[in-house]
Amino acid sequence: MLFYDDVNDAYKYMDVLNSMMQNDTYKKEIGAFVINLGSGNEGAIVLPFYANEDRTSFSDLYLKMDDFTRRVEFGGIDYEVNTLIHTHIYNVSSGIGFSPADGALSSGIGVPLRIIYNHVVYSASSSTDQKPIKSLR
Ligand SMILES: [Zn+2]
Repeated sequence: MLFYDDVNDAYKYMDVLNSMMQNDTYKKEIGAFVINLGSGNEGAIVLPFYANEDRTSFSDLYLKMDDFTRRVEFGGIDYEVNTLIHTHIYNVSSGIGFSPADGALSSGIGVPLRIIYNHVVYSASSSTDQKPIKSLR
């Protein structure tokens, strides 16, 4: 796992990796916890993605997030998880590719997810509630 004390650096890392995956036979989703560092600052813990598939990455998240409590421990420190973020590959059928599984996850943790799609970070809780929050270009 990779710890970032600035979520923007994690966005960039995930976006670059996502672009690389587009050109790879072994497409992988990349997932992370967005964590609250206090004083309005967000960091991120990017999860290993070797076992992910092109549209799944949350088996690890479920195990490590203690089922929807939105707390995670890293390096002996307990963090509040603001939300979960993951990448979507670009050739989705519609929109940003928000899936029923994404919807279930969002309602499970009670906050919108973040999704990196085509170099933009979206905040999304359903197929109709999605807004771009940061361009990575
Ligand atoms: Zn998704």
